[in-house]
Amino acid sequence: MLKIYNTLGKQVQVFQPIDGKKVGMYACGPTVYDYAHIGHGRKYVNDDIIKRSLKYLGYKVDHVMNITDVGHLVSDGDEGEDKLEKGATKAGKTVWEVAEYFTQDFVEMLNKLHIELPTHMPKATDHVKEQVEMVKDLFENGYAYDTTEAVYFDVSKFPTYGDLFGQRVEDKEVGVRSEVRVDANKRNPADFVLWFKRIGKYKDHIMHWESPWGDGFPGWHIECSAMSIKYLGEQFDIHTGGEDHISIHHSNEIAQSEGATGKHPFVKYWVHHAFLKVNDQKMSKSLGNGYRLKDLEESGYLPVHLRYFYLTAHYKKTQNFTFEALDAARNAYEKLVKFIQTWSTEAQDQKSNDFKINKELKEKFIAAIEDDFNTPNALAVVFELTKADMQSDDKLGTLLDFDRVLGLGLEDALNQPREKAIPLEAQILIEERNIARLNKDFKKADLLRDQLKNDFDLDVTDKR
Ligand code: AMP
Ligand code: ZN
Repeated sequence: MLKIYNTLGKQVQVFQPIDGKKVGMYACGPTVYDYAHIGHGRKYVNDDIIKRSLKYLGYKVDHVMNITDVGHLVSDGDEGEDKLEKGATKAGKTVWEVAEYFTQDFVEMLNKLHIELPTHMPKATDHVKEQVEMVKDLFENGYAYDTTEAVYFDVSKFPTYGDLFGQRVEDKEVGVRSEVRVDANKRNPADFVLWFKRIGKYKDHIMHWESPWGDGFPGWHIECSAMSIKYLGEQFDIHTGGEDHISIHHSNEIAQSEGATGKHPFVKYWVHHAFLKVNDQKMSKSLGNGYRLKDLEESGYLPVHLRYFYLTAHYKKTQNFTFEALDAARNAYEKLVKFIQTWSTEAQDQKSNDFKINKELKEKFIAAIEDDFNTPNALAVVFELTKADMQSDDKLGTLLDFDRVLGLGLEDALNQPREKAIPLEAQILIEERNIARLNKDFKKADLLRDQLKNDFDLDVTDKR
């Protein structure tokens, strides 16, 4: 029996999907105005574990993750500078180019971390029509009102507004900083924007669309309601996101979605992940600790080492990234690879190709993932397997079966020559060699090829 901690209700609950073995799962995606960092990596690997676990347990998963490419404001609230416009100014690009560039960077990170891509990855800018339709429904149902500046959701009309964060709306801190000017015609402090009008400080907002309330752009929260409903229906099973989204973004999503459809609950299970810290500090630009996967690769780590590191903590616990912890993950992973290589050779020697999955260990492994996706316990079962008194081919088969959930790419590690992390110095030489070839300086290119072989044991071949 799969059990999941549900933020709605604040308890571990038995998972019972709405429709038999089919599961609809929505994950809040990234705002694509900057590079993805290893904190994002943790969040999306955790989603991937949930999805792979569900599939392993026999569910069919329809997984949707949005891409927030509409400019939205710097905090979760409605005030502040626009993230995409800020990113565009910094990079000297258009907002559309910025969104495209960072979406690609993000997807590259997903692929490298063995995160299975969602069934649908809708972009907010492709779904403005659906967002406008939803705001129209909210007007019709009496939840929306507009001022000269914006269209708002009136939280006082939605009595269950505080259910997700466990506070009454009157007690909720809305986090509006004192220097921020608030629309004087807003009815309640917690009311949030459904549609920004392109006037006042937003008169030059770059991304904008026509709407019944004038030229403007959608508030941030409405995109997730509109797109999840479009792809998964008015009610679905699982919604994930970082724990930072509980009090504002997800509370607003529930209010809008239920306000528009009249159906409760919008989502059955709300799953929230804890954050990744670096050296016990919050990740932030100012501390310069917003590592990207690429930074780790340049230091000689493989993406799978990071994935393994993530699995060593339960998703609801804050995880602390240190290079010592990453080294420990690398060692543990490399040990596993050595084990499977040995088992494979032994199995070949014994000419055994009819392995059996160990029933007892499989039961333990399932118990771990059914216990709210407990990956540290699942890894403990893996190490129990390495020590078990079993035939090599059975060990190999059982571990490869577990890897359908763990996603460590163990089968590839077995079948392919080991992928080698290319150190930064070698990458620079490869780049120099590419330039030399482009300049038809083949003598220099050959010298660089020799240097790469001698210093880094890298064989460079050129596609003609
Ligand atoms: P953002 O692009 O900032 O909207 O973030 C996308 C997702 O990543 C959200 O669900 C955040 O909660 C999550 N996230 C951002 N930073 C971290 C972090 N340091 N650790 C874990 N998750 C994070
Ligand atoms: Zn969202």
